[in-house]
Amino acid sequence: MATKVLVIGACGQIGTELTMKLREIHGGENVIASDIRHGNEEIMNSGPFETLDAMNKGQIEDICIHYEVNEVYLMAAMLSATGEKFPKKAWSLNMDSLMHVLDIAKEGKIDKIFWPSSIAVFGPTTPKEQTPQHTIMEPTTVYGISKQTGERWCEYYHQKYGVDVRSIRYPGLISWKTLPGGGTTDYAVDIFHKAVEDGKYNCFLKSDTALPMMYMEDAVRATVEIMNAANDDIKIRSSYNLSGMSFTPDEIAAEIKKHIPDFTIAYEPDFRQTIADSWPSSIDDSPAQKDWEWKRKYELSNMVVEMLSQLK
Ligand code: NAD
Repeated sequence: MATKVLVIGACGQIGTELTMKLREIHGGENVIASDIRHGNEEIMNSGPFETLDAMNKGQIEDICIHYEVNEVYLMAAMLSATGEKFPKKAWSLNMDSLMHVLDIAKEGKIDKIFWPSSIAVFGPTTPKEQTPQHTIMEPTTVYGISKQTGERWCEYYHQKYGVDVRSIRYPGLISWKTLPGGGTTDYAVDIFHKAVEDGKYNCFLKSDTALPMMYMEDAVRATVEIMNAANDDIKIRSSYNLSGMSFTPDEIAAEIKKHIPDFTIAYEPDFRQTIADSWPSSIDDSPAQKDWEWKRKYELSNMVVEMLSQLK
């Protein structure tokens, strides 16, 4: 029987590329894209689309039953920077949507869940360099608190009810197809658009703020790989650390300058600096490497080449 997949939040930065990859793997008809808004033409025309509010359990359930869905990828969430403006809304969306999907799996209506966590689960008391899988976690943003709580629920539902839920703590994701949705690492996408359009960029973080980042192709591949791994190989049911690259605004600007010599960057840090300061600067992902053979492909230099050639 074909795997039937539902992607919730399919029109976002990750959802768009993940949905297209899943449609390539399972066939367009077998991957149902859903979101509260419409997506780009590619998403809307390459397979089924359903308008869905992730806060509505009945709606999710109906779609799962109607299409005989076995796997749900829950990508809908309010991200770190927007979450600080609407803390209660971020908490409701991020928690309710996850609890609904976990409950639907517990009730035996779906077999497998992918739910992304984030480096935002870490906080100012976490070791900043090569942050280990198991460490101090005292997040200071509502987004980070919701992701940390989500991780606890995922592990709980796995241990108590046998729910097959798999998760990755994504770093900041860099992509050219879809714009980012209100996170603290959005600068690392904006900078490319501004470099190509205007030759200059005004950065909302300080020049020396190092953060963990990853190119979208690696993130989508990691998502597919963790979902394809044998059940027994997934030893961590909260969420896996995942590492791609780590750089500062200064370093990415220097790399862009190699290709656009006149490119200039200025710095005007805003409230997002405080969020960035509370996060790790690099991540140790050895458990993901060991358990399901994760291996990154992109580092700063080949990511910059790829981004500039795609955007030009
Ligand atoms: P995004 O904001 O680009 O996309 C989220 C999508 O969810 C949007 O299309 C939005 O319309 C949809 N959505 C919002 N509310 C909804 C609702 N009530 N019902 C249905 N859909 C709704 O976010 P993204 O960057 O694609 O992130 C996807 C997931 O990955 C999130 O859980 C996010 O926390 C996580 N993540 C992202 C990053 C990153 O750098 N982008 C890093 C770490 C973790």
